[in-house]
Amino acid sequence: MKTIGIVGGMSWESTKVYYEIINEQVKQKLGGFHSCKCLIYSVDFAEIQKLQHEDKWEELDILMADAAKRLQIAGADFIVLATNTMHLCVEAIKEAVEIPILHIAQATSSAIINKNINTVALLGTKFTMEKDFYKSILTKNNIEVITPNEQERDIIHNIIFGELVQGIIKDESRNKFMAIISRLQLQGAEGVILGCTEIPLLISSDDVEIEVFNTTRIHAEKAVEMALKE
Ligand code: GLU
Repeated sequence: MKTIGIVGGMSWESTKVYYEIINEQVKQKLGGFHSCKCLIYSVDFAEIQKLQHEDKWEELDILMADAAKRLQIAGADFIVLATNTMHLCVEAIKEAVEIPILHIAQATSSAIINKNINTVALLGTKFTMEKDFYKSILTKNNIEVITPNEQERDIIHNIIFGELVQGIIKDESRNKFMAIISRLQLQGAEGVILGCTEIPLLISSDDVEIEVFNTTRIHAEKAVEMALKE
């Protein structure tokens, strides 16, 4: 089994879900007493979210590259960046380490293709919904992406940072997400990407009519597949 190097803490609310899923998956696949070999480098999210909102991505590049480097030195065989947003720093990480990075948008694209879905709605932080780093990977895989309108993007972003990354789950916010997803469905979305690793804490496939792509689960399961590959 390879050792997974997880850059976590963005937020720890979702990193603990990654830890659970990868261990459950290894147990399910190998049985017995098996559990996942992994290293977690968990950052202080206060520093990260401050730099994000100040648009200081070069400083974030340095922090992410440093985290990945520490995991490589500690013996990780590949890197899992346990957040969608921070894949904005993936090029800087690639330059800093020799080991591979399992990209969350690539893993999600494969899951969408497997379901034969062409048009998806993308929900996440404003950085993920508005910048090109994530959408471009989906588009390269011939997936059409619909993003929420400006007002909806504000609502989603504020719920992520004001509630979800702080472990606050509210029915009222779930209803807002459900209304946005329904509207995007009317606009043609056949599926919805929960493109922020905390959104699955609020929304599940039971809450919506269209196919749900839970990026936390997809990414964590793909990591186990990679760890167990010969
Ligand atoms: N975990 C979130 C994501 O998947 C948001 C927190 C962050 O900004 O990294 O994008």
